[in-house]
Amino acid sequence: MEKLEQLYEGKAKKVFKTDDPKLLIVDYKDDATAFNGEKKGQIAGKGAVNNVMSNIIFQLLEQKGVPTHFVEQLSQRETVVKAVKILPLEVIMRNVSAGSFAKRYGVEEGIVFDQPTFEFSYKNDDLGDPLMCESHALALKLATAEQIETIKKYASIVNETLKEFFLDKGLKLIDFKIEFGLFDGEVILADEISPDTCRLWDVKTNEKMDKDRFRRDLGNVEETYQEVLKRVQK
Ligand code: UDP
Repeated sequence: MEKLEQLYEGKAKKVFKTDDPKLLIVDYKDDATAFNGEKKGQIAGKGAVNNVMSNIIFQLLEQKGVPTHFVEQLSQRETVVKAVKILPLEVIMRNVSAGSFAKRYGVEEGIVFDQPTFEFSYKNDDLGDPLMCESHALALKLATAEQIETIKKYASIVNETLKEFFLDKGLKLIDFKIEFGLFDGEVILADEISPDTCRLWDVKTNEKMDKDRFRRDLGNVEETYQEVLKRVQK
């Protein structure tokens, strides 16, 4: 399968048409952004890590009953995916306090929750991806009630599956963001699952093994992405 014209270039990926209107090719970049694009940089090798890691995880999730956009990996950076219409909702689940949760509620990072939390952000860069409650998503017709139920069901499976998967690799799944799209009218998991979109802390040291190393200038950014991929591939 070959890349035809470029359809779109986002912050972390380029998307190309193929000769099949139902399939696209995504090409993962090394570009990194944070704080809604305010901080920009490059993480050498990130594109390959995020591509390969997402594909491993999407195939695992398919086995657990979550349909995904994954079709076939073409190279270290390129993957054939189903052409979906992305729902403009970022779905965030948390097992431990961190990031915007800790900031919003004025609590420390590292509080282990009895139950995972579930939230939506409105995927809209101009507005800075604001937190959004379900009734507002329904009011704006961003998704139907049935689609939201499906999203919640799939997100819980993703959390349970990935918590166990990462723990086995010596990583605690603190929180993550996922995105869904519509393909032939059905909700499927799209976008990526990587150290850009998950918080992962080392089980033994609690060291941050994710994009917070870039966001917070913690150093060893490239090395950490490679280490996460190495563990995920074991
Ligand atoms: N996240 C993401 N993209 C975003 C916002 C958040 O992938 O635009 C991920 C982030 O990496 C973390 C989780 O979602 O794993 C929760 O992020 P949070 O709401 O704490 O926001 P942040 O602190 O990243 O601004």
